[in-house]
Amino acid sequence: MKPSAFEYLAAASVDEAIAVLAAHGGEAKIIAGGQSLVPMLNFRLLAPTILVDINKVPGLDHITPDGDGLCIGALTRHHALETSDLVRERFPVLCEAMTHVAHLAIRNRGTIGGSLCHADPAAELPMMALLLDATIVTADSDGAREIPAKDFFDGALSTVLEEDELVTEVRIPALPANCGWGFEEVSQRAGDFAMAAAAATVSLSNGAAVQVRLALMGVGDTPMRMRGIETQLSGAPLTAETIEAAAASVVDAVDPMSDLHASSDYRRHLAQVLTKRVLSDAWQRAGGTAQ
Ligand SMILES: Cc1cc2nc3c(=O)[nH]c(=O)nc-3n(C[C@H](O)[C@H](O)[C@H](O)COP(=O)(O)OP(=O)(O)OC[C@H]3O[C@@H](n4cnc5c(N)ncnc54)[C@H](O)[C@@H]3O)c2cc1C
Repeated sequence: MKPSAFEYLAAASVDEAIAVLAAHGGEAKIIAGGQSLVPMLNFRLLAPTILVDINKVPGLDHITPDGDGLCIGALTRHHALETSDLVRERFPVLCEAMTHVAHLAIRNRGTIGGSLCHADPAAELPMMALLLDATIVTADSDGAREIPAKDFFDGALSTVLEEDELVTEVRIPALPANCGWGFEEVSQRAGDFAMAAAAATVSLSNGAAVQVRLALMGVGDTPMRMRGIETQLSGAPLTAETIEAAAASVVDAVDPMSDLHASSDYRRHLAQVLTKRVLSDAWQRAGGTAQ
């Protein structure tokens, strides 16, 4: 199919993009990489009257240090995140996650802002934003606001953004010292959306796991942090037994949907298996004994 007719404007600044969004209410849509929006237009799942292209807006495409963390402009491509030395040095788990996003051609166009705003329940970047306690910086007619990733996603393909609100930047705070990580996903074929995925970071301090983080996706309408399990695992070494118990708790904490690709039971099983793998990998990368 082909999209409904629309007007097109290449915005020259954030202010211009916001002004056009505000003037058209919910009838205007931002286009960044176009890798999710254009298929939705072609299937006529969306029919905006105007597309506001932000690709020429200066200042939205950068990966810059922010203390020991990073500021990432909304227009930063998946491929830039995958290949950036700065990202690999500070957040290797993010580089790893990017290798699972679609195919190279899509990663060359798709942007971090677009992925977060599209909020696909099976997309890697929303889960990574949640895992890494990212803050999503936005601008609209009233000014700027900073939204913690945990408050950003409010359903499948849905966020708390207002109609005239634009994501400008994503800020990721530094990971704690001695921090290991794990990332695992299962999809039917390489490049497909994940049926389920898990990611973890674990810090090692005096022989114990501290600041444990565990996130899952594909098992609910939005990515999920497993905060109860994080608390349960913190303060002691990770062992085969504690990891097994954490994975068993995940089964009760998720309520995945069934679809053409996988049943709810299979996704629950994946959540359990992937949880074990990412916790074990994160613990070992932090310097803990192999489990
Ligand atoms: C075949 C195929 C396979 C794919 N597989 C995967 C996969 O495995 N994992 C995965 O995560 N993704 C996958 N994708 C999606 C891809 O990663 C997209 O690039 C990404 O979801 C959206 O980024 P974009 O820059 O292309 O956004 P666009 O398509 O341009 O926009 C997406 C949505 O976000 C809004 N938007 C964009 N930027 C902003 C902004 N700065 N502020 C406010 N709103 C904004 C748009 O209005 C639109 O509603 C796949 C896509 C295709 C076509």
